[in-house]
Amino acid sequence: MRLSTLFTKTNKEAPKDELSFNARILMQAGFIDKLAAGVYTYLPLGLRVLKKIEAIIRQEIDAVGGQEVLMPALTPKSIWETTGRWQNLDVLFKLVGSDSREYALGATHEEVVVPAVAQHVFSYKDLPVYVYQIQDKFRNEKRAKSGMLRGREFIMKDLYSFHADETDLDSFYKEMQKVYFKIFERCGLLDKTYLTFASGGSFSKYSHEFQTITPAGEDEIYICEECQIAINREILDDLERKCPNCGTKSLRMEKAIEVGNIFKLKDKYSAPFGYTYLDETGKRKPVIMGCYGIGLSRLMGTIAEVRHDERGLVWPKEVAPFSVQLIQVNTKDLAENNKIKLTAEKLYKDLQQSGMEVLFDDRDEASAGEKFADADLIGCPIRLVVSERSLNSDSVEVKKRGEEEKELVKLSKISGYK
Ligand code: ATP
Ligand code: MG
Repeated sequence: MRLSTLFTKTNKEAPKDELSFNARILMQAGFIDKLAAGVYTYLPLGLRVLKKIEAIIRQEIDAVGGQEVLMPALTPKSIWETTGRWQNLDVLFKLVGSDSREYALGATHEEVVVPAVAQHVFSYKDLPVYVYQIQDKFRNEKRAKSGMLRGREFIMKDLYSFHADETDLDSFYKEMQKVYFKIFERCGLLDKTYLTFASGGSFSKYSHEFQTITPAGEDEIYICEECQIAINREILDDLERKCPNCGTKSLRMEKAIEVGNIFKLKDKYSAPFGYTYLDETGKRKPVIMGCYGIGLSRLMGTIAEVRHDERGLVWPKEVAPFSVQLIQVNTKDLAENNKIKLTAEKLYKDLQQSGMEVLFDDRDEASAGEKFADADLIGCPIRLVVSERSLNSDSVEVKKRGEEEKELVKLSKISGYK
């Protein structure tokens, strides 16, 4: 993509009326636009990041047999009454249709997925099944001050697993922990993300959260360095302030944000819908469930919180909007300038042909300083500069975002550069 045609612009300063760092920097760099508290538009650069995160999640979940669906966001009151959540789920956005009936905007989808799967899966032979979607969720959050970390409209991957018994649920639940770590690793957050014990509600002793350390986080977790796991503050007392694995009491407190969580639901949502299956002997048994969430928009905000420096964003490779930002540094000498432009154009095409995603700063009106500042702010992993100086040695200057070192690489060698 050419910066000269990209309709979004970076800003010299972050928006003054936005308090949260992730929203400030993402708005300043032109990734998102804010419509209202907790409600954002994804602009081209931001949408590219979101799609990258989406692709990673889809790949990893498909790899363990996930089947993707897309459920509606507009849902009738009756399904929420079946589970009691019309009354009990305080964040539900409720509205009235022109048929005078009440509806809710989906805050989570157990009430939709259970009756849908029940239409198709009724025998032990059909189980297990893993159904997921990547979709907008709506929650009437009281505190929508954390930018992308807590949206009123936000994007979630929600997966629901259906099993014949608890043993099968347990083994899939363990497998999902591995899948989640793969996802967070590919999103560049592995070193900061901890499997965290959290209260499991009434159905299992614990649930597990995946908490990423950041001062912007709303939770407090207590980390056991030895076991590399953590406990959410809210359950600390249940565990007698000890690591559930090794029993040590020397735990380190950190602020963190929950980027994902996994729950054993057992028959919490299948029972109210009367959802059972027939086992090998023809006996009816309750379908056992688990649910597994990841907030994609929260993940994007978390990456912005965790991966930046004073000059801007520093995107991990797999989620960067482009892998390369190519800069052409214009000069006053006409002949020289032509050479720079021709070289940069050729490089742009070559790199794209070799499969690289390139953001090409081909603007004539912007100064070299402005272009460098924008590249730092936008935060693509590799910066390439074609200038009079680099062309003196038939080279292009290569610099990695987040590192100071620059090197001149011969143009003839650059296509293979990764
Ligand atoms: P929290 O404890 O942060 O309020 P939650 O426990 O209610 O979240 P779930 O309902 O289990 O979260 O949702 C699954 C995932 O969706 C969470 O792990 C988080 O990543 C994301 N998520 C939840 N609420 C929001 C929100 N308001 N904005 C963005 N992401 C969210
Ligand atoms: Mg939570």
